[in-house]
Amino acid sequence: MLFWLNNIWGYMMIEHKFVCDICGFIVFDTDTKKKHVCGNGHGGLRWDLNFNCPKASGAYEHISDSLAIHPDQIPEHRKKFPDVDILSDGRLKFTSVKQQEKYCKKTGFEKKPQKRKPRGKRIA
Ligand SMILES: [Zn+2]
Repeated sequence: MLFWLNNIWGYMMIEHKFVCDICGFIVFDTDTKKKHVCGNGHGGLRWDLNFNCPKASGAYEHISDSLAIHPDQIPEHRKKFPDVDILSDGRLKFTSVKQQEKYCKKTGFEKKPQKRKPRGKRIA
């Protein structure tokens, strides 16, 4: 299981957003385990889980480019997240906000930091 996640996260890089609720200070980082603090002295920042999982209302279908996985990983991914559709190019298709949020939270919280790419590099 952990091996699978390390593999997946080797291909997926998601920047997370950390925000200060007092002044709005924002930090983007792929490292969710690190402590992020407000540059204006307000202490720890809140991890904004909705940043990569935008909220929408009504009928919903979202094909995520930022949550794409390597096509080689598709069979393993289907086993772990049977309710999430994957296109043949590895992009994920969500059919509800709830589904996407659940998925993001799950992958976000289980993320292992070992294989992350250097900071500040965006591939999405
Ligand atoms: Zn602040």
